[in-house]
Amino acid sequence: MQILPSDLDTLRSLADIKSDDTRCVLSVYFPGSQAEEPLALPLGDVPERMLETDRLSDDEREHRDRNIERWREATTDLALPDAPGWLAVVSWMTDQVCAIPLPKPPQVAAYLDNSPFLYPAGRLIDEFAPYAVLFADHSRAVLYEAILGDLVEHDRVRGDIKNHVKKGGWSQARYERRRDQEIHIFCERITERLRRLIDEEELDRIVLAGDERLLGELEEHLEDRYREMIVTRLPVDDASDTDSLFEDSLEAAFAEEQRLERRLLEQIRAAKAADDKAVLGPNGVLDALKAHRVSRLLIGPMEDTRFWRCHACASFGIGNAESCRDCGSEDVFEQSAANEFTDLAFEGGSSVQFTTAPIQEVGGVAALLRW
Ligand SMILES: [Zn+2]
Repeated sequence: MQILPSDLDTLRSLADIKSDDTRCVLSVYFPGSQAEEPLALPLGDVPERMLETDRLSDDEREHRDRNIERWREATTDLALPDAPGWLAVVSWMTDQVCAIPLPKPPQVAAYLDNSPFLYPAGRLIDEFAPYAVLFADHSRAVLYEAILGDLVEHDRVRGDIKNHVKKGGWSQARYERRRDQEIHIFCERITERLRRLIDEEELDRIVLAGDERLLGELEEHLEDRYREMIVTRLPVDDASDTDSLFEDSLEAAFAEEQRLERRLLEQIRAAKAADDKAVLGPNGVLDALKAHRVSRLLIGPMEDTRFWRCHACASFGIGNAESCRDCGSEDVFEQSAANEFTDLAFEGGSSVQFTTAPIQEVGGVAALLRW
């Protein structure tokens, strides 16, 4: 089983595995070794026990069985790395079996769909995207990346800046100058490494923790671009308790994520009012997605929206799965609207902002348009 990076680019590339009219790809969601509640059934049995698919065609039945067979082979004696959770994708047609670690344990589920079922993974990866945590006091700075439910130490800088001890025969003024100089050099070294981590890992949020006065100095050494990424400043004495440092930082990072979602919603509303370069609600957004007009998609759970696909002519749209609106065939099946919209956005190169808020006031989904 191939292990892929836990990011939206990976999901975007998986969206290329696709059939228009046949459900031929198996997706499996399950908890990892770091989940509090372990999987209650053997991993190999998950698809058979969890798949809920109606109106399967003969072809789809074969895809289901072949994929399940592949899954059983791939999970025999499988030892996955530590992670809170996993999405695995099995496509026997394209000969792919891969797994992506998730930052939170997902609900155990299996889907047979016309493409990988990416919506739940997208939501978790977006919601719990990695960020930087910097702990600093006068003796040391420790730089962490918060990733996949853990703080991973990245770098460490020794400070050893004396607090108030007057040494030798130095005058107070000379001592202060010397100390200011030491702090300046310390801050330069820390911020250089922080910038490197942010740029290399493409992070967009920073949590500062530690000595308040030193953190203030540090901020002055950061360019605006990085300073704007700071989501909170936590007064913390002890860097060794990484568990509580992680918990506290997570809360702030999560609040920032929600602020970004609200800001995007306001932007969409303003764009709609100003020059109509935005759409609200499932019908308008679906048309825009089909025309590849969406630059940024804001998508909620869309639980009130039904979605159908047609076996006969590969058409699809919004509404109950009764008959095809294009060819009239009754050989149609129900799909998850949120997942279909996510796929279309990935395909069209739109950026996707997932939200757990139902955003009913805009019909569960909205978008900024390119033109
Ligand atoms: Zn049709």
